[in-house]
Amino acid sequence: MMRHSLLWLSEQKQVFRFVRGNPLARKFAHRFVAGETIDSAVQAARDLNGRKITATLDLLGESITEAGQAAAARDTYLQMLDAIAKAGVQSNVSVKLTQMGFDISEDLCLANMSAILDKAKAHGSFVRLDMESSAYTQRTLDFFYQKLHPTFGNTVGVVIQSALRRSAADVDLLIEKGVRVRLCKGAYLEPADVAFPDKADVDKNYVMLMERLMERGNYPGLATHDQVILERAKAFAAQQKIDPSRFEFQMLYGVRRDLQDQLRGGGYNMRVYVPFGTQWYPYLMRRLAERPANIAFIMGNVVKEAVGR
Ligand SMILES: Cc1cc2nc3c(=O)[nH]c(=O)nc-3n(C[C@H](O)[C@H](O)[C@H](O)COP(=O)(O)OP(=O)(O)OC[C@H]3O[C@@H](n4cnc5c(N)ncnc54)[C@H](O)[C@@H]3O)c2cc1C
Repeated sequence: MMRHSLLWLSEQKQVFRFVRGNPLARKFAHRFVAGETIDSAVQAARDLNGRKITATLDLLGESITEAGQAAAARDTYLQMLDAIAKAGVQSNVSVKLTQMGFDISEDLCLANMSAILDKAKAHGSFVRLDMESSAYTQRTLDFFYQKLHPTFGNTVGVVIQSALRRSAADVDLLIEKGVRVRLCKGAYLEPADVAFPDKADVDKNYVMLMERLMERGNYPGLATHDQVILERAKAFAAQQKIDPSRFEFQMLYGVRRDLQDQLRGGGYNMRVYVPFGTQWYPYLMRRLAERPANIAFIMGNVVKEAVGR
């Protein structure tokens, strides 16, 4: 119920306008968002690298409806890739197609994505296409297979969500084509005909897809904070003699830092997804929906700071 309400709120633009001007809400956002500028994101990547953890920078923003906004987001990505290279930090980037004008025109989106991928290729970097709601899954994969992968190869990769019923077939095809896949559970509210309504099924599917990707995939990114699944991944790697260099774990900025360090200390590759920018509201609401206890946790921190601890 709470999850549904928070996810519904994440899509309400008028609520965002109200919340964005609120200093308390901005403090809330800081728990999960690195800051508003490229410099703050690069600094977060540098700090992660200091813990031997790599990063993925993500400029927050999605569902763009004006070509000018998409061009501005593209230019920020071009600057991010230069800033990452200049700072010498270990980081790649993640992009949402709707941020690059996917809903305006696919040609426009292709032009924006091509500029980003050309730059990433020149820097020897990598661009992940974040996966959005199930309304975009087929379109995203079609766009990837037809327009991006043939030209840019493994400079670009995709995300698969274990919540979706279709994902096993998608994973098989991606493995066959040697595509780099990030596996996550899925952050969106989905109808029961396309997604498993029961969380236990989402988790079970995650493990099944994870094992396929670990055995036969091209350097999969296993994106989860689920301790049971992480233990399972480690045991599966040991059992099947899969070297830890063949996959990486991925987590979100501000979530389970203890586990991030533990895994890295245990010799596993660990990457943290670092979102930044002014458009933090839908992202923050999805994180709160995953764990409503975060509301109390962050409120506690904000109050402690306000009274000067
Ligand atoms: C690197 C990365 C990239 C992602 N990219 C995408 C994407 O492209 N598309 C997409 O739909 N989703 C994406 N997600 C989000 C993902 O789909 C899940 O919504 C999110 O990761 C929570 O699922 P979980 O696997 O951690 O498992 P859950 O079962 O939700 O959580 C397991 C445990 O992790 C901890 N935890 C989980 N979330 C939080 C939180 N917000 N705060 C504090 N603790 C928490 C809790 O201890 C919880 O019990 C991404 C996630 C990661 C880590």
